[in-house]
Amino acid sequence: MTARRIGNVNVDIAIEMPIDDGFPPEMLVPDFDPAVLAANRDLLIPFCINANTNGFKLSIHTWILKTEHHTILIDTCNGNHKDRPDFPLSHQLNLPYLEKLAAAGVRPEDVDMVLCTHLHVDHCGWNTRLDNGRWVPTFPNAKYLFSRKEYEQWDPKNTDYPKQPFNTNVFDDSVLPVVEAGRAVLLEGAHAIDDELMIEPAPGHTYGQVVLKVDSRGERALFSGDMMHHAVQILRPEWNSGFCDLPELARETRRKLLEHCVEKNALLLPAHFPPPHAVRVKAAGGNFTFTPE
Ligand SMILES: [Zn+2]
Repeated sequence: MTARRIGNVNVDIAIEMPIDDGFPPEMLVPDFDPAVLAANRDLLIPFCINANTNGFKLSIHTWILKTEHHTILIDTCNGNHKDRPDFPLSHQLNLPYLEKLAAAGVRPEDVDMVLCTHLHVDHCGWNTRLDNGRWVPTFPNAKYLFSRKEYEQWDPKNTDYPKQPFNTNVFDDSVLPVVEAGRAVLLEGAHAIDDELMIEPAPGHTYGQVVLKVDSRGERALFSGDMMHHAVQILRPEWNSGFCDLPELARETRRKLLEHCVEKNALLLPAHFPPPHAVRVKAAGGNFTFTPE
């Protein structure tokens, strides 16, 4: 993908892990009904479903936003050399992610803000890198923005929240070192980065997930994290992923954000859609449909 513009904001992407062959739909979206695929084949294939396997095409990537004043990364994928005993997809990777950022014209020291929409294993891995056996911030000049509620959910000392096995070690190797380096900022409620970029709570997938809205020169966009994982959830917003912590709230938030996209004509840029990685959402008789863009 070549970079695109949303008003004054330049948007590019660094793809850590493309997933083209087809992830078993029921593993990601337990309610998935093949009848929805049968009724929407032309919409879903080849964009987001593999024609040979009928599996989900996905992507694990970082959105790169450049404004006049900032270079911002949204979500930092899995990271290299991380021990993920309960999540093989992310375990001990050695991928050329920093080279992908470089190809988009971004050196680690250029980044002045990192936003993790939430603190799952595939959204904060490159927050840190291994340096002589220690985890250190990958982006030495960046402020790292986390939701305070999200931080509390994953803090091992906090027993008020469930801790899923797939996220084992993530807090200790990808969050805590950033805090200890004095680079973390914990957000409460909505937070304006500037006049055009707004971070807002979007709980449901996790307790403290946030999204980023762009409103610049009449153009709008929504960076939605894991509000949804796959475009079938636009057709069926009631379908949660198997990784959603608060099922009812996840459905409510998904529908509300899809309505926002329709009402404001906001481009939807999730964390895991395959190329072209973004869609325009449209109303369809009380429900939603989309066009890849
Ligand atoms: Zn994710």
